[in-house]
Amino acid sequence: TVLTPDSAIRAAGDYKTATKNFWHPMSPSKQDPSQETLIVVSGEGNYVTDADGNRLLDGVGGLWNVNVGHNRAEVKDAIKAQLDQLAYYQSFDGVAHPRVYDLADRLVGMLAQEDAHRVLFGSNGSDAVETALKLSRQYWIAAGEPGRVRFLSLRNSYHGMHIGGTSVGGNAVYHYNHGPLLPGVELLDSPFLYRNPWNTEDPAELTDHLIRQLEERIEFLGGQTIAAFIAEPVQGAGGVIVPPEDYWPRVREVLDRHGILMISDEVVTGFGRTGNMLGSRGWGVKPDIMAFAKGISAGYIPLAATVFNRRVADAIENGPGFSNVIMHGYTYSGHPTAAAAALAVLDIVERDDLPGNAGLVGAVLQDELQALESHRYVGETRGKGLMAAIDLVADKGTRESVDPSSGIAHRIAAAAREEGVVVRPAGTKIILSPPLTLEADEAREMVRALDAALSRVD
Ligand code: PLP
Repeated sequence: TVLTPDSAIRAAGDYKTATKNFWHPMSPSKQDPSQETLIVVSGEGNYVTDADGNRLLDGVGGLWNVNVGHNRAEVKDAIKAQLDQLAYYQSFDGVAHPRVYDLADRLVGMLAQEDAHRVLFGSNGSDAVETALKLSRQYWIAAGEPGRVRFLSLRNSYHGMHIGGTSVGGNAVYHYNHGPLLPGVELLDSPFLYRNPWNTEDPAELTDHLIRQLEERIEFLGGQTIAAFIAEPVQGAGGVIVPPEDYWPRVREVLDRHGILMISDEVVTGFGRTGNMLGSRGWGVKPDIMAFAKGISAGYIPLAATVFNRRVADAIENGPGFSNVIMHGYTYSGHPTAAAAALAVLDIVERDDLPGNAGLVGAVLQDELQALESHRYVGETRGKGLMAAIDLVADKGTRESVDPSSGIAHRIAAAAREEGVVVRPAGTKIILSPPLTLEADEAREMVRALDAALSRVD
C-alpha cells in the first residue's frame, strides 16, 4: 500500500495509543501514560510534521544532527545513486570501495589545519569515542610507553554509551546501572562558570583554578601514566557549557608539556554547530584525535569518523611488532551508502557555509534567549552558535536546579510544542540544537514559543 501524506498521518496517529514493544532509549522503561508521545511523520527543511498534521519548527535538529535540514534532495540523490550501485561492502584487510576512500581524503583535506592524517570509520558517536580511546592506548604502546593507560575527562561530559565512553562520561546517572566501569579514569571539574566549586564568576579566575587542578592531578598520578585527555570543546548534553576563552589553549599547553594526547569529542560540535567548522578550531587548539558523528552525515545514514593527526598516525604505522596493526573495527567501518551521504552533506556544509550561518543566526538566538531569564525558573540561558541551553532553577539565588522528577522541563517542552516548536527537555535543562540552516526569523520564533511556554509554566 502506498500511503499518501494524509493517510500516513492518520495511520501514524494510531501509534500514540497502540501497544508498543519498543523501549525508548534514555527513558523510564515504563512510559508515563499521561505523557504524550510526539510521533514525527515527516520532515522538510527546518520543520517536522507530527501525527496530527501539525507542522513544528525543529529546535532539536533531530538530535543535534540534522544540520542540513530535513529531506534534502542532494543527500537523498547521493544515497539513491550509491544504493543503485552498491548498498554495502566491507573494508577490512585488502578490500574497499571508492566512497570510503573519497570520504577519508575529504576529511583529511578539510582538517589539514589540524594536521589530520588518517581516518577510521564507525556508525555513531559512541563508536567514534571508543575508537579514539582504544587507539590512544595503542599509540602509547607503539610509541614505547605502554604504561600510559589512564584517561582524564571532565564532569558534566558526555561521550556516548559504550563502556569506555560511559566510563569517561562525567554524569553519574549513566554510571548507576552499568558498573563496574573502566578503571583509570580521572574526572576533573568542568569549565562551568554558572556552577563551579570555587563559586567564581570570573572566567579568567575559573581557568586558573581548573589549570591548577589539572596540573596537580597530573603531578599526583604521574604524567607517564596518562594516555589522553578527552573532552567536548563545548559540553553539550551536560548542559551546553561554554568554557572561558583561554581554557582550551591553556589545557593544550599543559597536555603538551606532559606529552598527553588531546582527544576532542566533536560529535556535536564538528562541522559547524558552534559557528566554526570544528569546536576546537573555534578555541584555536589542535587536537591529536577527533571524534565525529552526527553532523557528518546529518542523520541521513548513521556514520562516525575518528580522525588521527600525523603524530598519532605515524607512531602507529611505524610501531614495533603488533602495535602497528589496527586490530579494531566494525562491520560498518566504512559503509559505502553512509559515506555517499556524508560526502553530499559536507558539500552542503561547505558550499552554503553552514558554520558561518550557525555563527550569525546563533548570535541572534543567544541574544534573544537572554530575555527569558526574567522567567521564574530560568536561572541562565547560555550557548555558542546554534547550541543552547536554558538552565532551570528552583532558586535563582542559590542556583539550585529544579527537581528533575518535577517534570518541569517536560511541561515547558510540551507547552512549546503547542506553540509550534520542538525543544528537548533534558533533566533540569531545555536544550536547543536546531539545523544549521536555521534563519534569523526562525530563531526569533523559537524564543517567542519558549517565552509563551515559560509564561504558562510560571
Ligand atoms: N559524544 C558526544 C559529545 C555526544 O553528544 C554524543 C551523543 O549525543 C555521543 C558522543 C554519542 O553519540 P551516539 O549517540 O551517536 O553514539
